Amino acid sequence: MKIICVGRNYTDHIKELENQRPESPVLFHKPDSSIILKNKPFFIPDFSNEIHYEIELIIKISRIGKHIQTKFSHKYYDFIGLGIDFTARDIQNDLKKNGLPWEKAKSFDGSCFVSEWIEKSKFDDINNINFKLELNQKTVQNSNTRLMLWKVDELISYISKYFTLKIGDIIFTGTPSGVGKVGIGDELQGYLENQKLFNLKIK
Ligand code: ZN
Repeated sequence: MKIICVGRNYTDHIKELENQRPESPVLFHKPDSSIILKNKPFFIPDFSNEIHYEIELIIKISRIGKHIQTKFSHKYYDFIGLGIDFTARDIQNDLKKNGLPWEKAKSFDGSCFVSEWIEKSKFDDINNINFKLELNQKTVQNSNTRLMLWKVDELISYISKYFTLKIGDIIFTGTPSGVGKVGIGDELQGYLENQKLFNLKIK
């Protein structure tokens, strides 16, 4: 399986990092080795002094597909959840400055947290889902999928032009504003609508 992530998909987050608004979705991958195993914490790696959380709505692909038209995208996923795209921001800033790929900052072991999954059918509209992240019980990111520059179904169509989507693949759909640093002893809590999906410890 593979994990495909979308960068710069919320205007408020593009502004907070002083990035340019892209003309098409920014895509990168995380390998399967980046996933945090069930019930394990996130361990801060020794190569970074600035690990950021990024809460994102994630979807799980349920059918193989290539060149999927947007109007058919909804047939290719059954479950949604929340993910954290852990990012070594200090390393990413260096890589960006030099025009280099982001993998060392985004795809390291433990950089991918995946929550439990909720059936898509529980939600009326994929383009109107509230989600938020708390850091030690204080809300730090709070958004709605309607604020995405490219909506879920458009992303699936776009991604499938380049990468064949397979059963079990996961798409990270981008983070809204409010990203910030984690430290040892912190806890992150994620909510999809009002349902708490996870509590993740930072060690
Ligand atoms: Zn991200």
